[in-house]
Amino acid sequence: MIKTEKVLHLKSSRGRKVRVVREHYLRELVPCYSSLCQAECANEGKVLSADVTHYVVPDAGVTRDFMEILEFREIQGLVFTQTACQAVQHSRGRRQYNRLRSLLKDPRHDCVLFANEFQEYSYCPREKGEPQDKWQTRCVYQAAVWYHDHLAGLKPVVMITEDQGAVAEYSSLNCGVYVLSTLEYLRTFWPELQAAHELYGSIAQALRERGNEGTEREFAEHLPAEVLEAGIKSGRYTQGTLNVNKHRAQHEAFVRFDGSSNKNSELDSDVLVWGGKNRNRAVHGDMVAVELLPKGEWRGRTTALTEGQGEEKGEESQGQPMPTGRVVGILQRNWRDYVVTFPPREETQSQGRNSLRILATPWDQRIPKIRISTHQADTLQDHRVIVRLDSWDSTSLYPNGHSVRVLGRAGELETEVQTILIENCIHIAPFSEAQLREMPASSPERPWTVDPAEVVTRRDLRDTHLVFSIDPRGCEDVDDTLSVRSLPPGPQGPRLELGVHIADVTHFVKEGTLTDLEARARATTYYLADRRYDMLPAVLSADVCSLLGGVDRYAMSVMWDLDAQTLQVNRVWYGRTLIRSSYQLYYEQAQALLNGEESIEKTMEDHKLSHLIEALETLTQVARHLRAQRDQGGALELEGVEVRAQLDEDKNITALVPRQPLEVHETVAECMIYANHWVARKIQERFPQQALLRHHPPPRQEFFTQLQDSARALGFTIDTRSNKALADSLDQAVDPQDPLVNRLLRVMATQAMSNALYFSTGACPVDQYYHYGLALDRYTHFTSPIRRYADVIVHRLLTAAIAVEEGARPAKASASNKELEEMAQHINNKNRAAQHAQKVSMELFQCLYFRDKDPETAECCDAVIYAIRTNGVLVFIPQYGLKGALYLRNREGQVVRVSQDGRCVWEAGSLQRSLDHVSTTTASGTSTFRLFQHVTVRVSVQTSRCHADTLHLELVSNRAHRAPEPPDRTPRAAPPQGTRGRSQLVQEVVRQAEEALLQAEEKKGRVSELSKEEREFRQSKTPNLYSLLEEVREQALLDLTACGAVGGGPDLGTAARPCATSA
Ligand SMILES: [Zn+2]
Repeated sequence: MIKTEKVLHLKSSRGRKVRVVREHYLRELVPCYSSLCQAECANEGKVLSADVTHYVVPDAGVTRDFMEILEFREIQGLVFTQTACQAVQHSRGRRQYNRLRSLLKDPRHDCVLFANEFQEYSYCPREKGEPQDKWQTRCVYQAAVWYHDHLAGLKPVVMITEDQGAVAEYSSLNCGVYVLSTLEYLRTFWPELQAAHELYGSIAQALRERGNEGTEREFAEHLPAEVLEAGIKSGRYTQGTLNVNKHRAQHEAFVRFDGSSNKNSELDSDVLVWGGKNRNRAVHGDMVAVELLPKGEWRGRTTALTEGQGEEKGEESQGQPMPTGRVVGILQRNWRDYVVTFPPREETQSQGRNSLRILATPWDQRIPKIRISTHQADTLQDHRVIVRLDSWDSTSLYPNGHSVRVLGRAGELETEVQTILIENCIHIAPFSEAQLREMPASSPERPWTVDPAEVVTRRDLRDTHLVFSIDPRGCEDVDDTLSVRSLPPGPQGPRLELGVHIADVTHFVKEGTLTDLEARARATTYYLADRRYDMLPAVLSADVCSLLGGVDRYAMSVMWDLDAQTLQVNRVWYGRTLIRSSYQLYYEQAQALLNGEESIEKTMEDHKLSHLIEALETLTQVARHLRAQRDQGGALELEGVEVRAQLDEDKNITALVPRQPLEVHETVAECMIYANHWVARKIQERFPQQALLRHHPPPRQEFFTQLQDSARALGFTIDTRSNKALADSLDQAVDPQDPLVNRLLRVMATQAMSNALYFSTGACPVDQYYHYGLALDRYTHFTSPIRRYADVIVHRLLTAAIAVEEGARPAKASASNKELEEMAQHINNKNRAAQHAQKVSMELFQCLYFRDKDPETAECCDAVIYAIRTNGVLVFIPQYGLKGALYLRNREGQVVRVSQDGRCVWEAGSLQRSLDHVSTTTASGTSTFRLFQHVTVRVSVQTSRCHADTLHLELVSNRAHRAPEPPDRTPRAAPPQGTRGRSQLVQEVVRQAEEALLQAEEKKGRVSELSKEEREFRQSKTPNLYSLLEEVREQALLDLTACGAVGGGPDLGTAARPCATSA
């Protein structure tokens, strides 16, 4: 080892130059991390593949400016030098450096780090007077040469640099080591990788433009980091996340505090940041430091309805002045990829030399316009494009960015769906070849079969238990199956055995494999209105793991030995099993069997049918009992509005159909809840510091204000002090004249709820484990490992717990509390994104549905007023499960007046709001709109060029809308006891819709083989609303926004909140 000195020139925080001398040790042996190594380096962990045509070494400048290109997975054999990494760390900050580090760690990327400055023969000291960038380029070149020689010339090495001087100087020095510019490199080696070429062009353009900024200051300078830090410590500044109000994005933003960081104890509310100057270049989602303005300059938040507004939570501040501040610095930028729309030609502004500087409008209203320099302004007008932000200087009114990828023409379905994914940070790359190589083989000709060696290690239930599944019709990924049977009577009397058997995903997906990493990154299957993106490759999710009927499958089982009368648990058994499901039922079929419908029995194989019916009946009894137990504990029966879009083969929406729940849905759900609860108990007891559980915090009382006010208007009192009190008082609040009243009150209660979240047991005190909605002290997710990664983790924890109890040492140390908590946060974030994407895609299809209707002849529909606002009311439309705002005062100051025949006209006048009604007064008289009044509205679509289309509601009459009488139908068997009363009509409509879809499926023929797309992308092209609703069903607590609200809520106070609360 050789010791030398390395001289560093650093800048101090005050801008002074400091010379630092560090001891620098050089070694002969520094791992090269190549599988072609000829020198027996200690290459542990990730190594470069030998299976590439060349290795590529980017210099410091390329690594700094063009990292996005190096991130393409196609570019393999990538060697990052220590020199380049340090340059990124110094010039681009921690965020970019972390990005580089995670790239290096990710086994899906073929790239490694070579510590060239510690390598005796590749290190070159900086010469006197040598400029830093020249020296860095020389170091990288030296490293490239060393690398080539070290591998005995087995692989050509290409260094890429933007320094033309270096290209000229080095390119002919060494045989086998090439020096190219980035553009030449892409042209030579990646001529087909169009996306990389476009990205290169746009980054290069943005870099060229950066020099041409104006000098006039538009904003105050941000304070340096150490000043901010000291200010936050002393309480002068407060740190928090900036939330822009979507409906007043220009002016209104709030800073939400991150718990403990708030030293200013006077502040218990958000801080309002009013106007662009005070926002000082902070972008929605950034972590900022704010300084409060003097009290005299405080303002209130706006409370009137604005276009597109749906719902708001709480109304604490109704326009009263609130703490108001200004942004003094940015602690962390949280910029992501944004979808923007290129402006029409007349709005672009020529910059000469064919280059145009345009202002593109982001799809997300909360993001400011972004300035982009491009040659493509003409061809891309009215296109949606992904852009990234580069900088926002104090001299610029808008941030600068560069385009990354073109999505397509605005308004086209594919463009819009891709937009929704990008906007929710959902990036789904196809499963790679390497990932698919890890999968078990299974094909229609040679289906996968069980391994005899594995069979002996499992409890074999194939001959002893009648196992069956109940899922939505057309379901391919069967996660869960059930069994129930009598046991020989014990000392206390007759006994029952209830079994829940779940797909044994972790048998096939071993921790740390490429498939596991990909599933972890996705965290969940994504359901959109017309497609889904699976978490696992199809061979697992639809075949080998799926608990299909009539085939042997591995399962993870929980089996309870219960007292048949009291359902007291005598014993619980957890473990790996082998099952063969006898019946793969769908819900309606199972319900029909329970109802004793003979027609359905005739269609089924009957060798075990009487057993099956008996089991279904027992299961129904057990589930009612379990439910009653939870009800006593305060479980909430909440109401969501489930509406499904019915699609034809071309994805046109033909109807929006409210969904009819059957008792059997609840029976299955109850068994799953029971299994999840008992697995939660098991893993928490075994791993009190590091088990993954799911809790549902109690709601904040102020969120119940609207529910309580609305109920009071009808003479009901809602007690919200506990879940039990809430559940009981909701049960009492029934208007015999109008069943919708109770339903709407439940919707409001649901909206007041916070979200259920995953956490690690060590990260949360035990008294916060409680699941408020389900009224359970411990809960987790165990029953859907095919489409939720949380369940995969829980399966591994359960396996480890069983192993520990059997005295075996678990194969691998389980994740620490900290790692598990980070994982929980990751999954929570991904779930939030998945739910939001699902909601927005439903809204997209709703707009398509209403857009296709002729506005003149568009049918009117019935709506119910459920909240009063200062300039209008919020209504709910049961027929479509929609909610939205109805304006009673327009921008011209006119108000709605109801004429003699009940129709509505606009006239000059005034509007008065009170707790339970709103009145308009004009020269012709007064009109009043009361809470829970039925009115008639017309739905139309408001199109938008840059943002999502929205639905617009218009008041037609203040009377209930009479739907045309439905054609007479022979009534089906009465719904069984216990189901909530729904109209026969709805049931009928649902049945028809399902039959229509089934017919469409049959017409296409059962696809025996998976299409190429399905195999690779697991991106099903068939409408998958059943799976979508299956997902929705599992969310025992539903938010109706999950299924479609007009416009969607303002983000004030709710920005970080996902749209659906799920169990
Ligand atoms: Zn080596």
